Amino acid sequence: MKVPFVDLQAQYRSIKAEIDAAIARVVESSAFVLGREVEAFEAEFASYVGARHCVGVSNGTDALQLALQACGVSRGDEVVVPANTFFATAEAVSTANARPVFVDADALSYTIDVSKIEAAITERTRAIIPVHLYGQPADLDPIFGIAARHNLLVIEDAAQAHGARYKGRRVGALARAGCFSFYPGKNLGAYGEGGAVVTDDEEVARRLRLLRDHGSPRKYEHEIVGYNSRLEGLQGAVLRAKLKHLDAWNDLRRAHAARYNELLAAHADAVRLSLPRETAGARHVYHLYVVESDERDALQRHLGAAGVQTGIHYPIPVHLQPAYASLGHKPGDFPVSERQARRVLSLPMFAELTGEQIARVAESVSEFVARAQSSAAPA
Ligand SMILES: *Cc1c(COP(=O)(O)O)cnc(C)c1O
Repeated sequence: MKVPFVDLQAQYRSIKAEIDAAIARVVESSAFVLGREVEAFEAEFASYVGARHCVGVSNGTDALQLALQACGVSRGDEVVVPANTFFATAEAVSTANARPVFVDADALSYTIDVSKIEAAITERTRAIIPVHLYGQPADLDPIFGIAARHNLLVIEDAAQAHGARYKGRRVGALARAGCFSFYPGKNLGAYGEGGAVVTDDEEVARRLRLLRDHGSPRKYEHEIVGYNSRLEGLQGAVLRAKLKHLDAWNDLRRAHAARYNELLAAHADAVRLSLPRETAGARHVYHLYVVESDERDALQRHLGAAGVQTGIHYPIPVHLQPAYASLGHKPGDFPVSERQARRVLSLPMFAELTGEQIARVAESVSEFVARAQSSAAPA
């Protein structure tokens, strides 16, 4: 039995009639860029997360960059980001002409270590971007406290956390702006590229609408220099169809994570296998189910040989990426993120995973750990 890391075909099969009808509506109306389906999706997604406005853009990276620019971040500003995240969090800061300033990850939650943020703040700091990494909400309340004390804005990177809740409220709608990616493999994924920013701030929403569409409030009139970062009609229609299933899919992901925890608990130890934990006050949506092991590479090979596909999120922390060599960081600067980069392994996780597939993955992980434990045992 093969277990894929994600199975987008299984998801399509489960909602084929709805998707096919959504695509046909767009093709028949020829509203391929923005248009009715995008507007309807924006309204539905804003109401889903509990924000007043949603602005659809071309992808999650643009969502971050345009949100920073719409909130007034500009050249010379510094923006605090976690060292353990997908590269795009920091990249968007750079393309908004600001400078990313890294903060280490928390060892248990994987999200930004709140206790280390204040040491990273200077007189140039304008914003903090907490990332709800792997689907686990960052600890926002203390971050809002720090932001209030230093007069900073907070922008959520919710690209991995559609539908996750922090103290009962959906993430994305809790800071000045929240940024989402609809890359196909995300919890809510388009059939191509897509992204959105949600905000309660009328003026930020207005600037986002200008920035995504050549700075143009009306056809052929350009108020500012912007970008071409519009969400496509096909993506809007597909996302509307899939949004109706998001909560059920997230519930399934949570159930699968609980099942993995149950099957793997007996083998868990600090060295060879540690399991993900949901932090207090967080409702994790398991975009990724991430375990840690000192023998990560051998475990990944063992699973691969057994037909179980896995991933590493992420093998190189952002501060050590060649693209940021000019910032002058060195190994040891953010030891928790660096240790995570060496140890994390993402097991197959998607709503359509079957009980047999989960059992197969868990059996294969247990086999590896038991073998490693017995070979390490004193003679
Ligand atoms: C996917 C992702 C992004 C970027 O989104 P794209 O749609 O791929 O541009 C940004 N931040 C995080 C944490 C992501 O996982």
